[in-house]
Amino acid sequence: MRAGGLMHDISKGAVVTSLAEQLLRGSLSDTALMQATELSPNFAILPWVNVVKIGGQSIMDRGRQAVYPLIDEIVANLKHHKMILGTGAGTRARHIYSLAIDLGLPTGALTVLGTAVAWQNAQMLHYLLAQHGIPFIEPEGFSTLPHYLMERNAVICQGMPPYKLWEENPTVGRIPPQRTDTGCFLVAEVFGARKMIYVKDEDGLHTADPKKDKQAKHIARISVEELIALDLQDLIVERAVLDLMLAARYIREIQFINGLKPGQLTAALRGEPVGTVIYRDGAGAEAGK
Ligand code: ADP
Ligand code: MG
Repeated sequence: MRAGGLMHDISKGAVVTSLAEQLLRGSLSDTALMQATELSPNFAILPWVNVVKIGGQSIMDRGRQAVYPLIDEIVANLKHHKMILGTGAGTRARHIYSLAIDLGLPTGALTVLGTAVAWQNAQMLHYLLAQHGIPFIEPEGFSTLPHYLMERNAVICQGMPPYKLWEENPTVGRIPPQRTDTGCFLVAEVFGARKMIYVKDEDGLHTADPKKDKQAKHIARISVEELIALDLQDLIVERAVLDLMLAARYIREIQFINGLKPGQLTAALRGEPVGTVIYRDGAGAEAGK
C-alpha cells in the first residue's frame, strides 16, 4: 500500500517506508539511494528566527562607540523579531593564532583558541543585554534555545562551529578555514532560519576590500555562483560559507550590512535589500524536492 512514495503497511514490523527498506539493505555510497533520501519535504525547525552575526574585528573590537548603538538597535527590534546573535572573534584571535603557529600547533588547536575569543565576545554581548533577559547559550544547551526565543526573543551564542580539535586543515596554511561566519551560517541552515544577516563595518560586498582599494565598487546583489566565478582577491565573508550555500536546503540568501550605520540592521530584519545580498541561483540540494 503506497501513498506519495510512502508505504503505510507497517505489518512488516519496524520498516514503515520503502526508503527504510532500501536504507537497511543498500549501500550509503549508492547515488540512487542517496537521491531517494530527498523524497520527503524539508521541515524547518525555527522558520521565524533570524541569525545575526555581530562581527569580531569589524564591530566588537571597535568597543563602545560601535557596540552601544548596535545594542540599542537590537533591543528596539526585540519586540518585532526573534534573533540568534552569534559573535565573531577578531583581532585577539589573530594574535593567538600567530602565537600558536609560532609554537607549531595544528589547525585543530588553533580552532580551540579562536573559539575562546568568540566566546569572550559573546560573554561581553551577554552582559550588555542581560537586563533584557537574554541568555548566552553554548551548543550543549541549544535544546533550551527555542524556549528563550519564545520568552525573550533573542539568545546569544559564540559564532565558531563546535569542531574545535576536529577542525579540518585548510588547503593552504594553518588558519581554521571554518570560523564564525561559517558557524553562524550552519546554525541558520540547520534551524531553517528566516534570515542570515552579517553585521560588519562596510556597506556590504565590494569588488575589492574598500579599506585597501578606494576604487572598489559596491555590489548590491549577486548570486553565489557568479561570486565564486569572479574569484575576487578578498571577500567580506569566509569562502567556506559560499561553498556551504551551494548545498544549503534552507538558506537561499545571506545579507551583509553596515553595523556602524544605525537603521541598517532594522531594515535587513524587515526584509529590505540594504547592504549586499548574496543569493543562490541554482536549485542546489533542493533539486529533489
Ligand atoms: P568580522 O568582523 O565579522 O570577522 P571580517 O573583518 O572578517 O569581519 O570581514 C569584514 C571585512 O572584510 C571588512 O571590514 C572589509 O574591510 C573586508 N573586506 C575584504 N574584502 C572585501 C570585499 N570584497 N568587500 C567588502 N569588504 C571586504
Ligand atoms: Mg572574520
